[in-house]
Amino acid sequence: MALFEHKDFDDHESVHAFTDPDSGLKAFIGIHSTHRGPAAGGARLWTYETSTDALTDVLRLSRGMSYKNAMAGLNLGGGKAVIMRPESDFDRAKLFTALGKAIDSLCGKYYTAEDVGVSPDDMRNVLSQTKFVAGLEEGDAASGDPSPVTADGVFRSIKVGVEKQIGSRSLKNVHVAVQGLGHVGYALCQHLHDAGAKLSVTDINEDVLIKAESAFDANIVDPDEIYAVDAEVFAPCALGAVINPDTIERLKCKVIAGAANNQLSVAEIGKDLMDRGILYCPDYVVNAGGIINIAGEIEGSYSREWVEEKLVGIEKTLADIIAQSADTGIPTNKIANKMARERIGRG
Ligand code: NAD
Repeated sequence: MALFEHKDFDDHESVHAFTDPDSGLKAFIGIHSTHRGPAAGGARLWTYETSTDALTDVLRLSRGMSYKNAMAGLNLGGGKAVIMRPESDFDRAKLFTALGKAIDSLCGKYYTAEDVGVSPDDMRNVLSQTKFVAGLEEGDAASGDPSPVTADGVFRSIKVGVEKQIGSRSLKNVHVAVQGLGHVGYALCQHLHDAGAKLSVTDINEDVLIKAESAFDANIVDPDEIYAVDAEVFAPCALGAVINPDTIERLKCKVIAGAANNQLSVAEIGKDLMDRGILYCPDYVVNAGGIINIAGEIEGSYSREWVEEKLVGIEKTLADIIAQSADTGIPTNKIANKMARERIGRG
C-alpha cells in the first residue's frame, strides 16, 4: 500500500495505523494539518473491504476537515479516525476503549468526536482513556447533539443563496426540496416551515415522511423524484455524490445548499452547475455548524453566543465565496477550496 504516492496523500502531517488484537481494533488516524490548531474530526466505524480503502477514506476525510474547520474560522486543524469494522462479533466498549488509548498516545494532536456509525456511548468509552474527545452529552462543557446547529447553518446558507439568485432573503413561499429527513434534514424543515417556505421532501423512511407531511404541510415525493422537483432550492441532507452526470440533467433548482458531505460526484461538475445558472453553496462551508458546536466544547468555552457568532461567520464566508465566483467566473467549489488552502497555509 503506497502512502506518500497515494493520490489523496496531499502532504498529510502524519498518518497513524493502530491495531489491538484483544479488541479487534484496526484503525487509521489521519492528521492533515495542525496549522490552525489541534486536528479535529470525527471517528467513523465502517465496513471496508481492504485496509487500502480505509486509508483512502481517512486521507480524504481528514483533508476535508482541514478545509471545513478553516472555513468556519475555527482554531482547529483537520484530522479523522477510521475504524475498520471487525468481521466477527465484537465488544463495542473494548473497541472504543482501545481507540481511546490510541488517541491518547497522540498527546492532543488529534481530537475525536462521533461520525458515521459511532454514538455518544462509544465516546464515553473513548473518554475513559483520553481527554482529547468531544461530542459528549454530559458534563459542564458538553455541547450535546450537533445536528440542530448544523441545520441552523444550512438554513442561513439557503437564505444567502436565495438572496443572490432571487434578490431577497425572505423564504416566504420559496419552494425548497429536502432530500433526507434525519437529524439535520428534519430540523431544517422546521426552520424552513417557520420561515414560510413551501416544502417538498423525500426519505426512504416512511414514518418520518408521514410526520413531516402533517407537521410542515410538506409535499411527499419518491426518493428518485426529488431532483426534478420544480423548486427554487435543493437541499441534499442524506447522501454524498448526489449531484452527478445523471441527476444534473434533471435539476430545476436555482440554489443547492444542504448538509450532506461531498455532494458533487466530481469537482468538475461545479462548472457544469455554474453554466446552468445553478448556485452551488459548497457543502463543507454550509454544514460546519456541527463542528462549530464541537469546537466550543474542545476549547472549553462553549456558549450559545460564541456559536451564534460562528454561524454568522458561515453566512459571511458563503457570501464572499459567491461574490468572488461572480467576479471571476470560477465555480464556487473551486473558490472555496482555494480559500481553504490559503487559510491552512497551503495557498
Ligand atoms: P441521519 O442519518 O440522521 O439522516 C439521514 C436521512 O437520510 C435518514 O432519514 C435516511 O433515512 C435518509 N436517507 C438515506 N438514504 C436516502 C435516500 N436514498 N433518499 C432519501 N433519503 C435517504 O444523518 P444526519 O445526521 O441528518 O446527516 C445528514 C447528512 O449531513 C449526512 O450526509 C451527514 O454526513 C451530513 N452531516 C451531518 C452533520 C450533523 O451534525 N449531523 C454535520 C455535517 C454533515
